[in-house]
Amino acid sequence: MRILKFGGTSLANAERFLHVANIIENKIKYEQIGIVLSAPATVTNCLIKIIEKTIKQENIESYVHETKHIFLKILKEINLLQNKFPYKKLKIIIDEEFIKLKKIFYGIHLLSQCPDNIYANIICRGEILSVIIMKGILESRNYKITIIDPVKNLLGIGNYMESEIDIIESSKRINAMNIPNDHIILMSGFIAGNKKGELVVLGRNGSDYSASILSSCLNANYCEIWTDVDGIYTCDPKKVPDAKLLTSLTYQEAIELSYFGAKVLHPRTISPIAKLKIPCLIKNTSKPSAMGTLICAENKEKKENIKGITYLNNISMFHIVGPGMENASEITARIFSVISYNKIWVMLTTQSSAENSINFCIPQKNIMRVESILKNEFHLELKNGLLNSFNIIKNLSIVSIISSDIQNKPHISAYFLSALANAKINIVAIAQGSSKNSISVVISNSHLTNAIKTTHQVLFNKNQIIEIFLIGIGGIGNTLLQQIYHQKNWLKEKKIDLKICGIANSKKLLINMQGIPLENWKKYFENTKNSFTVKKIINIIKEYPLINPVLIDCTADEHLSYQYTNFLSNGFHVVTSNKKANTTDLSYYKKIRNIAVKFKKKFLYDTNVGAGLPVIDNLQNLLNSGDTLIHFRGILSGSLSFIFGQLEEGIPLSQATQNAKEIGFTEPDPRDDLSGIDVARKLLILAREVGYEIELKDIKIENLLPDTFQDIPNVKNFMEKLKELDPLFSVRVRQEKNKGKVLRFVGIIDPIGQCQVKIEAVDKEDPLYTIKNGENALAFYSKYYQPIPLVLRGYGAGNNVTAAGVFSDILRTLPCKSGV
Ligand code: ADP
Ligand code: ASP
Ligand code: MG
Repeated sequence: MRILKFGGTSLANAERFLHVANIIENKIKYEQIGIVLSAPATVTNCLIKIIEKTIKQENIESYVHETKHIFLKILKEINLLQNKFPYKKLKIIIDEEFIKLKKIFYGIHLLSQCPDNIYANIICRGEILSVIIMKGILESRNYKITIIDPVKNLLGIGNYMESEIDIIESSKRINAMNIPNDHIILMSGFIAGNKKGELVVLGRNGSDYSASILSSCLNANYCEIWTDVDGIYTCDPKKVPDAKLLTSLTYQEAIELSYFGAKVLHPRTISPIAKLKIPCLIKNTSKPSAMGTLICAENKEKKENIKGITYLNNISMFHIVGPGMENASEITARIFSVISYNKIWVMLTTQSSAENSINFCIPQKNIMRVESILKNEFHLELKNGLLNSFNIIKNLSIVSIISSDIQNKPHISAYFLSALANAKINIVAIAQGSSKNSISVVISNSHLTNAIKTTHQVLFNKNQIIEIFLIGIGGIGNTLLQQIYHQKNWLKEKKIDLKICGIANSKKLLINMQGIPLENWKKYFENTKNSFTVKKIINIIKEYPLINPVLIDCTADEHLSYQYTNFLSNGFHVVTSNKKANTTDLSYYKKIRNIAVKFKKKFLYDTNVGAGLPVIDNLQNLLNSGDTLIHFRGILSGSLSFIFGQLEEGIPLSQATQNAKEIGFTEPDPRDDLSGIDVARKLLILAREVGYEIELKDIKIENLLPDTFQDIPNVKNFMEKLKELDPLFSVRVRQEKNKGKVLRFVGIIDPIGQCQVKIEAVDKEDPLYTIKNGENALAFYSKYYQPIPLVLRGYGAGNNVTAAGVFSDILRTLPCKSGV
């Protein structure tokens, strides 16, 4: 005997009913089959909605029509596809059923309330009709059917809405039916009958429980739960898309997962089959060949694995405190006995001996009942001030991690709690211990999605995560995106999950939290209508659970550089090729660093000096290891390196500048290079890096150009005028050449920290002598590196090397992470 239960989505339309019938036909070849059916998808919710609206005296006509239409459509379409289907007979049944329902709704309308027995009777109509339709299909395929009436045969204990089943009595009744073994057994899920023979239901999702009860009563070999996902996942796959499928679970683990909210199984499902060691398979109706998840006594997966993250939402927490709590054990016993007597589920409790208080969580819908029960029970204590009035915190959720023997795996709790802290989620209460297999926290409902996504990411995703928000898509930004795209296989190999979540320029912002496809990001960017603001990017971190968000600034925008502290304090790392932040006033320079330390975020700007050359990183490493800078000399501008190289070959200054401009080595206006200000900025960054507290104005700059050249209105005229300086430079170059020297545009930090930018004549012995063609060279004379300096040399300009430098800064944001 094998019991198969099909859930609502498996029966959502005619095609699926017929598909389920095919699965049944396949199974019947091997053994006797019992089928438990839910209502077609949405039907239970529709019926509940109609009741609620009727109570509120709202018009329900269209809702009733809509619900009836679901069934009529199913019947009509099955009739087109299934020979001999008893369409007319079933249509009459459905018509009559809805006439009866309308009468009941009218009664509810008159009373403005719906007693629980009537409520239960209405909300299970879908299950009853599913069985009638499936019987029609299977009989038209010539199978013999026995229907088990759950009201007569499953004895429900408890209230009308959430009964438990007496398995011993139900077994007797079902076995007394002596069902012939060539019959297919059909039973509506979700339903039972109480001692008085009245219909009761088993709580939402109760059909799973019906299936396990039937498996137990008939001592089945297998219980199969057919649903809309491939099995049980490490987290609800609809909430966490990269949740992982579990191939097997022990009964205890499955109980724990379902108890703490994995809605794929009703919490009571597992106990009845666990007692008889009946294996349970969770299968996907749309993919019958997929393996599914096996729940059995022995778990084939590694015991130490975390099984899952579950959640229960819409919870409220009672906080009970007062002088009378000194006798806490007595009060606690009374609280729980009175609540349990009223059959209300207490999901989690915590107790504090220091404050003499107790907290417990219940489903929010039961607040009023619990409050009145407790007020009644403790009216004397409340009146005499032994208990304070109850503090009730609403709109909470419980998030739980399930893993065998979790008590002995403290690292799991550590990862769990730090994941929540990282996501800035406040924990209202924590409970570990009542069960050896779970740890639960209570948080606000509004943080739920964020909490489970973040936790899942930390506990299950062994990849390192980087979420990039790039501002600036000129030469560097654009090249960076190309480089990331080309490195996608390498990143995958290194298990780095690098997603571009946002791309912006000064006008527009493209966001895609799944990752913007880099093969055609330009097309998406062109089509976006979303305007760019810093606030929009910062708000994302509040909406989405980001693990390692990195803001990248590839602009030259001063305003944006003043937002770095804002980004850092909101949880972003900042990587920038923009020199502005590091060259404005010292107070902001220090503030960025303080905020980065305070919020444990990285501020990386290695491309600010020497583009792709690893200057800042090496310098910091040197200083960290106790070295100190004595003095520094360097060629810090690719364009001036090129221009001075050309001068040395006898090319006039104006022509050399023109050549540099043509190959893209200069700024659009070459005066920005020739004025020496760009070199001064880089020198300032280096000087501050080694500890000199100076401002840009403290750097002495030798401008290559006379002041009057700055007033020339356009670049063309300037280039013309530049020719006037050619003779001067030619003479100077020639004079030095005669002395065996060449001219270089050099940045200097002297031993007392004075900085200057100037033209220097250097001889063959000088490490800067051979630096030309756009190369940079940085000579650090330090305590460890003297008399021969540490020289970093290489191309110091260009989109490729700068973007590569930004790329390596991005990778430096990764924390070192070990597996859980
Ligand atoms: P059915 O109608 O078949 O009973 P349910 O909607 O009741 O289906 O249960 C299946 C749903 O349970 C899935 O679609 C999924 O969204 C949800 N779910 C929650 N937690 C888990 C989990 N850990 N693994 C699989 N599914 C889960
Ligand atoms: N149809 C009921 C519900 O939606 C029972 C079930 O599907 O298991 O809760
Ligand atoms: Mg269900």
